[in-house]
Amino acid sequence: MKKILNLQCVSCGKEYKTGDLDYLCASCGGTLEINYDYKLIKKRFDYDVLERNHTYDMWRYTDLLPVDDNDGIPPLKVGWTPLYEAKALAAKLGISKLFIKDEGRNPTGSIKDRGSAVAVARALELKAKVITDASSGNASDSLACLTAGTNLKTVIFAPANTPQAKLAQLYVYGASVIRMRDDYDAAFELCRQASQKYGWYNRAAGINPYGREGKKTCAFEICEQLQWEAPDKVIAAAGDGTIISGMWKGFTDFSKLGIIEKMPQMIAVQAEGSAAIKNAFDAGAAQAGSVKAETIADSISVNRPRDSALALQAIKESGGGALTVTDGEIISAIAEFAQVSGVFAEPGGAAPYAALKKLAAQGKIKKDESVALVIGGNGLKDISGVLKAVHIPDALLTPSLDDVARLAGVETGEEQ
Ligand SMILES: *Cc1c(COP(=O)(O)O)cnc(C)c1O
Ligand SMILES: [Zn+2]
Repeated sequence: MKKILNLQCVSCGKEYKTGDLDYLCASCGGTLEINYDYKLIKKRFDYDVLERNHTYDMWRYTDLLPVDDNDGIPPLKVGWTPLYEAKALAAKLGISKLFIKDEGRNPTGSIKDRGSAVAVARALELKAKVITDASSGNASDSLACLTAGTNLKTVIFAPANTPQAKLAQLYVYGASVIRMRDDYDAAFELCRQASQKYGWYNRAAGINPYGREGKKTCAFEICEQLQWEAPDKVIAAAGDGTIISGMWKGFTDFSKLGIIEKMPQMIAVQAEGSAAIKNAFDAGAAQAGSVKAETIADSISVNRPRDSALALQAIKESGGGALTVTDGEIISAIAEFAQVSGVFAEPGGAAPYAALKKLAAQGKIKKDESVALVIGGNGLKDISGVLKAVHIPDALLTPSLDDVARLAGVETGEEQ
């Protein structure tokens, strides 16, 4: 591909040509970063070109993606999700501008559709027969969906904490599912070995640089939706760290092309019980170590984050930060966020809001700053957690008309 200069190892700097390999560095095992020929891309890609482009999905940015097209995958609308301005909520929190990027609006209800779309397009270019992934649901769901109607068979390694609705999506889309008694990291490892042994294309986060590129489009859209400007702060949940690293790459691409001037600060939010990236950031380490992950938010439950090197680099380079929220804060954030914004987020999706509340209360958002929250997934994908925060009574009623107003808690002014 002409637009790509090389694939380069983040750890040792070794360079590879596209097609040499699709996963980790062959000499040191580091993650690979895809480098583009921005001079060439600049000749045909600019904001006036975008303004004339009426394809409103992630493929409007194909010039900045590591595939030639999306012709082989189902014509589903991945990306161009809404960016809402939440004025009342901003006022309540005492911040000047707040935006909500609702990634739950993607075809399978999460931001993972962006990464999977690029990985599937890449697998089809390589004429792969099988594509595989390990995830607690969102990445796997999107892979199962985006291979529908293609000749690619999808094999999924599902850890024990995969929520019911996410499992249902896998079976509905006809993926081969290997349900495991173990955690995400064990599923990830078996998936990696199977991919190696059988030659299956591996979409797994962190080790596949193509998938990460798909996440860039979320950053591109935010800039475009804000009239070619990045917000001051982007707050996103981090598990493996690919949303943070991928979105930062997107802002960097646009800056290198002269499309945006100001760069945002990237703020990574982790669950207190799954905080390997936050711990590494606090310690000034270049890579995250391992934790024993324990959190209700399955999509950010990760022992050893696979994309931590680039995620940590993004947080540092951007002058951002990392913080944790507790499971209790996440659960109450789901209902509270839905009630103030209308957006129903899954636990991992609500974590950025829980974090924003903390940052605002600590005075860490400056008066004139704009903030974008990345809501990674839709709440209907995992209702088990939120059912702890909202009370659904067991008793069924046979109400009389006279009882209705009282039961609804509405004052009518009528004599009772
Ligand atoms: C995957 C996911 C995350 C975390 O993304 P990473 O790239 O693993 O850091 C956060 N929220 C949701 C809803 C996700 O699906
Ligand atoms: Zn290397």
